[in-house]
Amino acid sequence: MRFLIFFIFILFISAKPINFSLYKLDSNNPSNKPALLVISGIQGDEPGGFNATSILIKHYKVYDGSVWVVPNLNQYSILRNNRGIYGDMNRKFAKLDKSDPEYQIVQDIKKIILDENVIKILHLHDGSGFYREDYINNMLNQNRWGNCSVIDQGTLFEYNDLNDNISQVVEYINGNLLDELHRYRVRNTNTANGDIEQEKSLTYFATINKKMAFANEASKSLPLNQRVYYHLLSIEGMMKSMNIKFERDFNLDIKSIDKLINHEDTNIVINDIIELPLYNIKPVINHFPIQKENIDFYSNTPIVWLFKDEKNYRIKHGNKNLVYLKPFYTEFDYSLKNVNIIIDNNEIEIPIGTIISIKDSFEIPPLPYRVNVIGYYKDGVDSEVGIKIKKKDLMDRFSIDKDNKKYRIEFYKQTKGQKDKFAGMIIVDFKD
Ligand SMILES: [Zn+2]
Repeated sequence: MRFLIFFIFILFISAKPINFSLYKLDSNNPSNKPALLVISGIQGDEPGGFNATSILIKHYKVYDGSVWVVPNLNQYSILRNNRGIYGDMNRKFAKLDKSDPEYQIVQDIKKIILDENVIKILHLHDGSGFYREDYINNMLNQNRWGNCSVIDQGTLFEYNDLNDNISQVVEYINGNLLDELHRYRVRNTNTANGDIEQEKSLTYFATINKKMAFANEASKSLPLNQRVYYHLLSIEGMMKSMNIKFERDFNLDIKSIDKLINHEDTNIVINDIIELPLYNIKPVINHFPIQKENIDFYSNTPIVWLFKDEKNYRIKHGNKNLVYLKPFYTEFDYSLKNVNIIIDNNEIEIPIGTIISIKDSFEIPPLPYRVNVIGYYKDGVDSEVGIKIKKKDLMDRFSIDKDNKKYRIEFYKQTKGQKDKFAGMIIVDFKD
């Protein structure tokens, strides 16, 4: 079993930037296991890295050794699909004024880098073109960063050969190329010899603190799925170089990566009483119950995020928009835990905030809450209980998904003289 920590994120609408998450993929006995630290998302417009780490966290199992993952170092810029809203965070590791909005984030990641368990650091980037030692053309030359493995110096204080380490990784990547054009090279920036830009970077900070740091660059000329492919190869190569034993629950190929990036099971759970399936979701959902304060959420996918953007709430997968939720502000009531529902003629107790599959029909027996099946309408009916409802009884435009198969059932607590309070949601999914 791995120890996978699912964070509950509390939305502080005004607090920016946003703290990053740290996941620890550990074998059963994580004590004294040297850890590989993988970091992505320092620049918000490099989705290859943070889609790769999201897959790493969700679909890899580490059974000997330890892998720590920070998928979203610059979460605020990821949500804005911007390289760096407050400037380039990868130039803030030498000197940084305390007034910098990202000061605390930089201190926090430095602390993790310096943790005594962390032996190697792999920093993921999407870089332009393809790096070549010589000038070939505008996209293939010494000034391009795509598809190379980067070190700041060849050896680390005479006791660790970074060149040798990175060569193993590059060899592993190059043994699995999709195309000869993609061939990886080692790029040694020799940062200490006067590279004043690289001196400010995360990997150089690690290097001068005697940590073995590497960067993997996947080319921005490649589609997202291929960038993810090369990042995952670099992570695997690095794990192999540390004798970290791992398994993944998929075949490492482009088709599988496509499915994992846009995975059918992707969800978000809001305040524990709503579970929203995000696969194939419509771009806008109207009149969505939202608590004005104290919104929290978690997802089975590390880079899924809920945030408020001017008037609407938005859910993003990395830097990609999934859905706008037009809020219906209401108080939340947490008294309802389970609901009995007759699903295809069988009565079953269902926890609030879940998704259920329906073949033909569902019916909710009377209960002391008002029931609103969104998309169902019958004159004079206030609470939609004791009615057998089939898919044909529901209006397509109220479904939450593009295939018009998923609908919301909302429950409201009624108290005399007060406004109804939202008590939770169940999603019915009419599968084929
Ligand atoms: Zn980058």
